[in-house]
Amino acid sequence: MERFMNLINKERVIIAGGGASGLVAAITAARRGFEVLILEKQDRVGKKILATGNGRCNYTNINISGYNFYGKNREIIENVVKEFPPERIVGFFKELGIQEYIDNTGKIYPNSLQSSSILDVLRLECRYLGVKEICTSEVKEIIKKNDSFIIKTTDKTYTCDKVIAAFGGRASPQLCSSGSGYPILESLGHSVNHIFPGLVQLKLDSNYLKRISGIKVEGNITAYSDGTEIKKDSGEILFTNYGISGPPILQLSRHCVDSIEKNRDVVISLDIFPKYEKNELFALIENRFVKMKYKTIRESFIGLIHKTLVDVVLMEAGIKDKDLPGTKFRTKEIYRIVNVLKDWKFKVLGPYYWEHAQVTAGGIDTRDIHPSTMESKLIKGLYIIGEIMDVDGDCGGYNLHWAWSTGYAAGRSL
Ligand SMILES: Cc1cc2nc3c(=O)[nH]c(=O)nc-3n(C[C@H](O)[C@H](O)[C@H](O)COP(=O)(O)OP(=O)(O)OC[C@H]3O[C@@H](n4cnc5c(N)ncnc54)[C@H](O)[C@@H]3O)c2cc1C
Repeated sequence: MERFMNLINKERVIIAGGGASGLVAAITAARRGFEVLILEKQDRVGKKILATGNGRCNYTNINISGYNFYGKNREIIENVVKEFPPERIVGFFKELGIQEYIDNTGKIYPNSLQSSSILDVLRLECRYLGVKEICTSEVKEIIKKNDSFIIKTTDKTYTCDKVIAAFGGRASPQLCSSGSGYPILESLGHSVNHIFPGLVQLKLDSNYLKRISGIKVEGNITAYSDGTEIKKDSGEILFTNYGISGPPILQLSRHCVDSIEKNRDVVISLDIFPKYEKNELFALIENRFVKMKYKTIRESFIGLIHKTLVDVVLMEAGIKDKDLPGTKFRTKEIYRIVNVLKDWKFKVLGPYYWEHAQVTAGGIDTRDIHPSTMESKLIKGLYIIGEIMDVDGDCGGYNLHWAWSTGYAAGRSL
């Protein structure tokens, strides 16, 4: 992204929240000559950035389209995606010293594979531009008075000409986002669309979870809401003692949770033999029974699926006597086993805790935010950016992409 000319500008901007979006907004505003102060609740800025991408920071993705983002107002999503293609974000960071590394799925990381590199370059640029930051300073209230703003923190009051609300959402409160920004913006007239955890593990209704907790399988997963397919994904799935986790689960989760919040019945179906059609899997199993007549049905699955899954799969298929030889079982019983392996259904009870969610779905209604400047349509001089908005993205660098893009859009529009 282009560097702005450093205009002489004495206007004072306060950024409430020094996370991903706030830091980029600070840099962009400071480059334009604004006097910028970041007020950050934590003892240092950008703490969450350090935890992103398993410590590697998946900061954007080469494949970005409006379909990767969710929220009630499509206009703002399409606008931001069009204005901020991935190469703009990569260019912005390259200028700060980040060489990109693109993995084989299109996810983009810093070449150092260290999220601290991203935070370091943002902080160095802020320091170079003279951005001031005050940490351990929680914004409690924003008041608009004539043409300026009064910002009240836990212990001080500040005044400024413009405010950027970069509070983040509610996901992973242990990493700083407690949701404190929502009531502050509500008191200024903004409305909050119902929030719920996104990119989160799912709680399942199943008696077998304790037994199979810790087992990983590769497979396809399909989510249904009231019987209608809502989303599909594939990859490594991990059973846990409360339900299910793994990248494809995170990807499906916001769709499942959204439906549950609307009182719909949500079921996920696992296909742990995605490379086999049902008839092929039937033939494979039947063949094992015939070839290894001396084995019980339980024993004949050893080497085909995880040993701990064998009993559970057989129970789920209604096979009571697991010590009979496989050859004693008939076609319909083998088909019942095939059905469990290819279409194992679990009722979804809900999301795991906010502490485990990577993003907040829902948030500040973006119909009240200008789609290219991020300025509030209700309060002149107030800008709203990042995860606090009613926009969330898929897993894969999309949420940081949103944070950087909206931060930049606000900073250049002040
Ligand atoms: C574990 C984890 C891993 C993730 N990995 C990725 C990834 O690899 N790729 C990706 O694209 N996304 C990832 N995300 C999501 C991404 O980190 C967020 O969507 C993004 O950081 C949101 O940026 P933000 O600036 O809106 O909010 P945040 O980064 O949460 O920043 C908000 C800041 O505001 C501060 N704050 C809050 N309230 C106040 C207040 N009242 N006063 C002052 N300061 C306040 C907070 O302390 C925080 O520093 C991950 C999230 C988590 C939890």
